[in-house]
Amino acid sequence: MRIVFAAGEGTPFIKSGGLADVIGSLPKALVQKGHECIVVLPKYRDLKLADQLEYVTNYYIWVGWRRSYCCVFKAEYDGVTFYFVDNEQYFGRPGLYGYDDDEERFAFYDFAVLEIISHLDIKPDIISLHDWQAAMIAPLYKERYAYYEYYQGIKVTFTIHNIAYQGKCDPNYLTDLFGLDNYLYYNGNCRNDGCLNMMKSAIFYSDVVTTVSPTYAQEILTDEFGEGLQSILNMRRHDLYGILNGIDPDVVNPAKDPELVENFDINTVEEKKPINKAALQEECGLPVRADVPLIGIVTRLTWQKGLDIILEKMDELMQRDVQVIVLGAGDLKYEEPLKGIAAYHNQKISLNLKYDFGLSCRIYGGCDMLLMPSLFEPCGLSQMMSLRYGTIPIVRETGGLKDSVQAYDEYAQTGTGFSFKNYNAQEMLNTIDYALKVYNEDKDSWKDLVHRAMDAKLDWEESADAYLRVFNSLLD
Ligand code: ADP
Repeated sequence: MRIVFAAGEGTPFIKSGGLADVIGSLPKALVQKGHECIVVLPKYRDLKLADQLEYVTNYYIWVGWRRSYCCVFKAEYDGVTFYFVDNEQYFGRPGLYGYDDDEERFAFYDFAVLEIISHLDIKPDIISLHDWQAAMIAPLYKERYAYYEYYQGIKVTFTIHNIAYQGKCDPNYLTDLFGLDNYLYYNGNCRNDGCLNMMKSAIFYSDVVTTVSPTYAQEILTDEFGEGLQSILNMRRHDLYGILNGIDPDVVNPAKDPELVENFDINTVEEKKPINKAALQEECGLPVRADVPLIGIVTRLTWQKGLDIILEKMDELMQRDVQVIVLGAGDLKYEEPLKGIAAYHNQKISLNLKYDFGLSCRIYGGCDMLLMPSLFEPCGLSQMMSLRYGTIPIVRETGGLKDSVQAYDEYAQTGTGFSFKNYNAQEMLNTIDYALKVYNEDKDSWKDLVHRAMDAKLDWEESADAYLRVFNSLLD
């Protein structure tokens, strides 16, 4: 099977969130199962490994009425072919998204993906689209390209990584940027709530829709989680699949991670984790103490991630003998109160308001627990990384958190973390208290918990098979 992946980001070249990790690891897992995978990314100015790119070709494409130059570069990585589509006007600037002309930039990208297929003669069996940046490829293919002989017979899948970001925009863009007839807006195919909605369009036009965990696939059918797309998703519910993301064991691995002070595995964790913990406490300006439970929080500072309930109970949590390290950047609404409370409890809280990959690894490696009480969580990677590093997650039972963390059961001695059901600050604090009690008073159980967490099956093996089953069902 040949699969073309279209997404706004992918490791190791460019990353702003979990989407990049999926694009960096799912194609690799499929290649290892004998399939051919091609990933097409924008050629951002800040691309990593840029010196490994080689020029392939160039051509002009139409973005609505605009005739735009497109230059294509290529790199091979882990058996996957990456193509990068370049136009200086659109991508020769810092960062990834967040510009006023994002719709135009990604309209260019969407056309570039469809055009690259015929220009390089790489007609795939499947085009796998991810999130709003690639979403409009679905209507463009079904309403236009599928009528050209060369393109006929390709199947299109769309994966929702986070339904909160839909690509809602001016209805005029449908014609102006995408060159599609505006009756597709008026008949509702591409319309939602008075806007052109890129994600809705992809849900409507794709052959299959997937999302990144089984629980989230159920949640987004409801008014509470559907973000206004629950109706169209219910219409497509028989073509909707939830497949849990995996993590790449070659990349997320405490035995190989160069960012750690001491590497460790399941056999050496008791001996080596304390060394990482002490180094982390020192790095973060906290008293170096082996006995105090150390809780990490690694997150974008946004409403999705449970910051409201964390802030509500942080002061009360500080009445316990604990230390907390926060690593995150985002909304001032959360940064400012965090600064206040961290200044007050400066011997117990280390606040790091930045994006720092190295520190994130050392937090996963050195902390005892990771707190992730998300309001909603399509899949979540932080809790999976912390499991791998023997750092026990404390999570709310939503989306991928529910699917990847098994609640500790002290009677059966099973489970890999601690979890609570409702988005309620007191329930969260009770659960943290329970985790602290086990940590402080039942060392043997904690040790077993750490071993089960590190041993949890989180790689792509089963999930890649699940994607293949979905793709194959379209080809029969
Ligand atoms: P989301 O994609 O919604 O932000 P995920 O849990 O799926 O959440 O993925 C977040 C990824 O970004 C994880 O790999 C996490 O370690 C990383 N990350 C989040 N915030 C930071 C930060 N401030 N510094 C370094 N890495 C971060």
